[in-house]
Order: sequence, then structure tokens, then C-alpha cells
Amino acid sequence: MFPRRPGYNGLILLLRLLVPLFLLACAAAAANPDSYDDLARDILQELVEIRSSETFPENTNRLLDGVAERLRREGFAEDQIAFVRSGPVNNLIVRYKGSGERKPLLVMAHIDVVDADPDAWQADPFTLLTKGGYYYGRGTSDNKAGAATLIADFIRLKREGYQPKRDLIMVLTGNEESTMAGITAIARDHRELIDAELAFNTDAGGGELDDEGRPRLLSIQMSEKLYQSFTFTVTNPGGHSSRPRPDNAIYQLARALTRLETYRFPVQVNEVVRESLRVGAEATPGEVGELMAQAAKAQPDPDVLRRLAAADAGLNASIRTTCVATMLKAGVAENALPRQAQATVNCRILPGTTPEQVQATLREIVADPAVKVERIGESKPSPPSPLREDVMTKLRTLSKEFFGSAPIAPSQSTGATDGLRVRQLGIPVYGFSGIATGPEDRRAHGLDERLPVDSFHRAVRFWYQLLKEFGG
Ligand SMILES: [Zn+2]
Repeated sequence: MFPRRPGYNGLILLLRLLVPLFLLACAAAAANPDSYDDLARDILQELVEIRSSETFPENTNRLLDGVAERLRREGFAEDQIAFVRSGPVNNLIVRYKGSGERKPLLVMAHIDVVDADPDAWQADPFTLLTKGGYYYGRGTSDNKAGAATLIADFIRLKREGYQPKRDLIMVLTGNEESTMAGITAIARDHRELIDAELAFNTDAGGGELDDEGRPRLLSIQMSEKLYQSFTFTVTNPGGHSSRPRPDNAIYQLARALTRLETYRFPVQVNEVVRESLRVGAEATPGEVGELMAQAAKAQPDPDVLRRLAAADAGLNASIRTTCVATMLKAGVAENALPRQAQATVNCRILPGTTPEQVQATLREIVADPAVKVERIGESKPSPPSPLREDVMTKLRTLSKEFFGSAPIAPSQSTGATDGLRVRQLGIPVYGFSGIATGPEDRRAHGLDERLPVDSFHRAVRFWYQLLKEFGG
């Protein structure tokens, strides 16, 4: 026997019961942070699965079109979404309108990645893989997690109807890993789009996990060394290799490089590095921690600084300018004397020192006028961001909630990020990904890049609070 179909009245009654239940479920889903975990994960997956490396600018543009479309669907108006072109790629700037009581807050990420060779990875780098508590894929840590965080949080705030006291501006750049042309073009030609009182960058800083997976130390990037490469070039009349001349471009260049190898730029501890050594010392056991504590004193003993530099390549790079040979090019044939030999020397310059000063030092080190020392491109110095007490107090309160008692150390990056260009505009930039990782997880630009699942979702929640805290 067939079941009796419910009558008209029965149907109405059923709907009366089901519709409110359905609406309640929807509201709960919107308010439930778990559903925002899913949203953030979906966005991360969408970003990772598009191979947006320098080789494929069309992918970068497709990715940003997708992000813009997603934000339009969430109610961001056309005049709140802007694209700025830099070479073959676009950059996206999204403005979350506030009441305008305060100057805007800028938040930053880049969506391009260093390309990855699928054959060298254990799994496809352009498929988001969840395994053993990690998200694997190119860009998971650098910097698509940051981009996904900002996008997901903008959407969440929008859905919740949040009204900030200032505009929140999100900038997603398309070529940070290669030329930094995106942020350069925006800073130079469209300052009005990103003008802000201060900025937070997801592409720097973060947390270190201890062996038990607890946050041990947090770092906030406030300063960046300046990136400037040079060429050392020797030219020579050349000739037949069967009749060698006494002078040879390769030998001459080799002597110059040997002198560079043994040279050490002077050590110097600025405000940001001093504070980072002081806080870092408390979290670093053994002799290195002791050296860090002594180096953080107002007048550190030069011998302490020397020993500190010798103990660790990272610490060495944080207290002095470094220049190192990275590429070599010479000769054209086995049986011809080289008419030219050229080395590329990459320098990371401490704030406060100019590229011109470094060039002069390099010429002195080389001590051979036949070796031409020339700059590749022109780098502009970028001032360290001030240790603003209002910013630090808010960050400390927030970080207690999310990272427990881990201390916050300001840091000076030895690399360079988009933050460099924004600091040059006089806008302080604080780099903090909110992502805590273990020593085995630092795989940016390398193989099998990964990100702890818990760390990612904690960062998304942290940034949601950060946006509200600083948004007012
Ligand atoms: Zn990056």
C-alpha cells in the first residue's frame, strides 16, 4: 500500500515547522566560525590551484578576476574594487568602506608564487592537499595563506554587517616574487588607492612553534634590509687560448671575488634589532641566548657582536650589511681567451646605509680599477617603522588571546617584501602573518611547501579580530 499523501493543511503545517528551522540553520551557519573555516579553506584551495607564477601572468590575472568576482557577489561595489596594471599582470585593491572618522588601514598580501616543478614535489604543488595536519601546495605559506585570510575576513565582516570607523584597504599584488613592479606602480602612480595611517602585511613575521606545537615566539617585521645587486665586470682584449696573455679577465675577476669573500661589513645594532635581540634572548637557550642578551645592551661589546655573528647566519645578516657573489658569466669558447668576465653580487643593506656607500666600499675591497663595480637597477632606502606603543599594546592584547604567553619580538627582514615600497611612502608597515610554524615547515620557495592546518585557521581568526580592533 502506498503511503497516504499529506493533505494541503498537513503540508502547510510541515512548511511552518521546516522554514523557521531552515532559516535558523542558515543564521547559525553564518554566525558559526566553523563555516568561516570552510570558507577560508575553499579560498586557499582556489588560490593554490592556480599556478600564478611569473611564467604564467595570465594565471595571475585569472586568479585576481576570480577574487574580484567573489567579492562582488558578497556585495562589494564596483567603485570599491580597482585593478592596477604592472607589466603583464594586474594587482587588485579592494576598499571596505568605513565611516571615515579615521585615516584608512591598509592590509597586504601577494598572490604570485615562485614557480614549482611538479616532478620534484612529492605531490602536485598546484593541488591543495590536506595530510597529517598540514595543507600542502605552492603558496600555502608564501603568501596565499595571507591572501586567503584577508579575503575570507573581508567577506566575514561584510556578511556580519561590520561598520569600521575607517576604510579598510586590501591590496593583493601580482609580482612580489619577481620584480615587485605591482606595489612599485601602485605606490608611484596610485598612492590615493592605498594611502593609509598604517599598514599590516601578511607576508612577513609570524610565530615559531616549540616541539610540542605551542607558540614560542612571535615576530613582527618592522624593518627590511635593502636589496641591491651589483655587477663586477672585467674586460680584456682576449685572443687565442694557445697563446695566453699575462692578463686574463677570469683570473682578475676571481681575485676580486676572493677579496669580497673575506671582507665583513661593520656590525651595527639599530632600535628594531636591539629589541628583537632582547626579546629573542629570553626565548633562546644556551650560549647564543646569552650573546643575544649582551648584544641588546646600549653599548654592546664589539667582541660579543662578532661572536654572535659567527654563531648564526641569520643573526649575522641582521646586524650587518652583506654582499655575496651569486652568479658568474665568462668566456664564449673553450679555445678563446675570455674577453669578459662578470659576477653578480647581491647585497642586503642595513637601513641607514645607502647603496652608494656600499658601492664605494665594494670598490675599495676590490682595489682594482680594472674591475668595474656597477649597480643593477636603483634601490631606494626604506625607513624602519616606528615601535608605536599604541600599535604594540593592541597587538600584545590580541596575541595573548591567540598565542598565549609567547613574547613579541620586532624584526628586521633580511629579504624584501612589498612592505618596503609602502614604508618609502612614509606609511608604517607591520609585518605579521599570524601563522605559527615549526622548524620543519619553513619551505617557502622550496619543495613540498606546507602550512599547519590549525595555524592557518588561527591566523584567519586572529586577522578578523585585528581588522576589527584597528578598524574601530
Ligand atoms: Zn612572500
